[in-house]
Amino acid sequence: MKPGDKSGGSTPRPDGPENGVQHWLLNEEARLLGQIEELRGNVRAAKEAGEIGDEEDLALALAEEEELIRKILKKRGDLAQVRYSLTRFHEGEYGFCEDCGEEIPARRLELMPWVTRCVNCQAGSEQAARKRACNEKFGLPWTLAHADHIEEE
Ligand SMILES: [Zn+2]
Repeated sequence: MKPGDKSGGSTPRPDGPENGVQHWLLNEEARLLGQIEELRGNVRAAKEAGEIGDEEDLALALAEEEELIRKILKKRGDLAQVRYSLTRFHEGEYGFCEDCGEEIPARRLELMPWVTRCVNCQAGSEQAARKRACNEKFGLPWTLAHADHIEEE
């Protein structure tokens, strides 16, 4: 891994995984935190609108609130994934599949810098995660629910 080495004929990238990924992940973390904060503000606004109106307004406000909360939960999931990738970056494991240990193709990381598995393992783990999510009270994806086991290699 030589930062700045442009030989090999691959697509030039201003921020290769070795250099720019931490920056990207930190930016993404800040962006998601901002979006979550904004959505929370919208929830408060919807609540207030529901309180001052009649039953129809209230019903609309409740539906909007539910939709906003769904979005917040999705963003929080994304945020957890980004933070998890940052942890792996600090441990020098970024770019390698956490299941089989194979290097994740650069093209895949370019499109989805937060992924921690190769395509094959991802497909398997998503299936397993869906099953687990039914049983786990927090409903977290498998990788996040087990993130505290990472320190043992
Ligand atoms: Zn794999």
